[in-house]
Order: sequence, then C-alpha cells, then structure tokens
Amino acid sequence: MPGILYIVATPIGNLEDITRRAIRILGEADRIACEDTRQTRKLLDHLGIAKPMVSYHEHNENARAAQLIEALEAGENVALVSDAGTPLISDPGYRVVAAAIEAGISVVPVPGPSAAIAALSAAGLATDAFRFGGFLPVKKSARRKMLEELKSETCTLIFYEAPHRILETLEDIAQILGARRVAIARELTKVHEEILRGTAAELGERLSARASIRGEITILIAKAEAAETFETPVADAVGELERQGWSRMEAIKEVAKQRGLAKREVYRTLVK
Ligand code: SAM
Repeated sequence: MPGILYIVATPIGNLEDITRRAIRILGEADRIACEDTRQTRKLLDHLGIAKPMVSYHEHNENARAAQLIEALEAGENVALVSDAGTPLISDPGYRVVAAAIEAGISVVPVPGPSAAIAALSAAGLATDAFRFGGFLPVKKSARRKMLEELKSETCTLIFYEAPHRILETLEDIAQILGARRVAIARELTKVHEEILRGTAAELGERLSARASIRGEITILIAKAEAAETFETPVADAVGELERQGWSRMEAIKEVAKQRGLAKREVYRTLVK
C-alpha cells in the first residue's frame, strides 16, 4: 500500500506554536522532506525527534519529487515541512504535491501557523475577503505595476516583504494606493513582535525614524472601498489651499495628511 504525504505546518517563530498532531505525524513519518536540514533539525531536536531528512528546494524540487514519490509508492509515509509556517505558501513544495497527486498518492494537510493568516487575524482590516500576493516584486517598476493593477481590488491585500525594502514599498503604496489603512506585522510570535497600523505614509515616517529595520515582515493593505480617491493633482490641491490663505507649509502638511502621503513627497511633487 502506498504511503501518505503529509503537509505539516511548523512555527513561524514561537516553538510553542506546533500542534499535537504535527508532533505526532513528524514522530511517526518514515522520513521528513524539508527545505534546509539545519533549520528543521533545530525543530526536531526541540521536539526530541530523530528522523531521516531529505532536503528539497526550488532548484532540485523536480528531482526530489521523483525520489519522494518512489518512497511513497514503496509504502513510506513522508512529512513535508518548510523552514517555517505552512509549506507551499510562498515556499517550495508545490511540485512534490502535484507529483504525488499525479501518482495517486494521498496528500493530507496538517494545518498550523502561516504568517499571512496570523497577520490578518490581528491587523484590524476586513477579513471577509483577502488576496494574498506572496512577495511583492523586487524591481520597483514591477512592484508599482502590480500595485496599480490591484488599485481597485475590493478585498484586503496581504504581501510578504523584506525589511530592507519596506520603506520603498510603503512609499509606492502611499503614492499608488493613497491614504488607505495599512498594517505592518513584524516578527510575529517572536520576542520583538509588533503590529504597526496607520497609512503607508505614516508608517513610512515612523519606520524611517528608526536606526534599522529588521526581522520578518508581512504587510496588509485595506481594500479599495476604504480608500479615498483624489482627482485633483497634488500641486493643484496645495495651490487651492494657498489661495484660501494657508501658508505653503500648512498646505503641504494638510494635503499630505488628506492623501496619506509623507510631507516630503508632497514637497517633491511641487518642486517637480
Ligand atoms: N510559508 C510561510 C508561512 O506560511 O508563513 C512563509 C514563507 S516566506 C518564504 C517567508 C516570509 O513570510 C518572510 O519573508 C516574511 O515576509 C513572512 N513571515 C514569516 N514569518 C513571519 C513572522 N514571524 N512575522 C511576520 N512575517 C513573517
């Protein structure tokens, strides 16, 4: 009889966040397919489990999938994990699962933590519908294009982002999506866990005041409905306030506030 391929979620930081079932399945499996054996060994050592491990990643997944299917067909039970969280969610594993299904092997999820869902549950943004976009594109032009495409999406948007790109990304969100509510979930379940809430411009200002931004980040953006759209160009809005007697500085501050932009962005637009 063929074995079962278990897709096992593991903690995203706090090692207490592992289910009893996950511990049992890891303990009973004949082998564990993981991304980085050093990373998974830390978890297994913590759980007191010793098992043969086989590493799979983006570049060897097809070859590994064939080997794992062979083992499954020979009757072995395989537990597939990623470095952290739910495998396949912005993590490799898809090819192994697809190959197993193709071969008629049972694929059984063992649910648990995932940064996207943990962040959504505490962000304070609408949860009735959401769109998980994985990692935002690294290239600025591609990232901005994607945000443009998502402008009218009427559900909460969730992305993973690297700490060294977060300021740039917040600037793009402020410029393209305007004054929407945004949440930044950083280091969830870990010692330095924090969830920052505000517009992209506000969060950009808060984070840029820090000496460094580290850790793992999930970013969530309110749906289009919650966003205000502004037809008048920024420079005209500032000009209009000046005509009404506001000083230039006050007008810049007000327009920045209304549109969820940083004051320097409004100023830059005026200079241009
Ligand atoms: N499969 C994983 C899951 O289900 O959460 C996600 C893997 S993906 C390669 C890793 C990214 O998830 C990180 O770069 C970060 O954007 C996000 N992430 C992971 N752990 C996190 C945490 N503790 N707090 C906030 N975001 C986290």
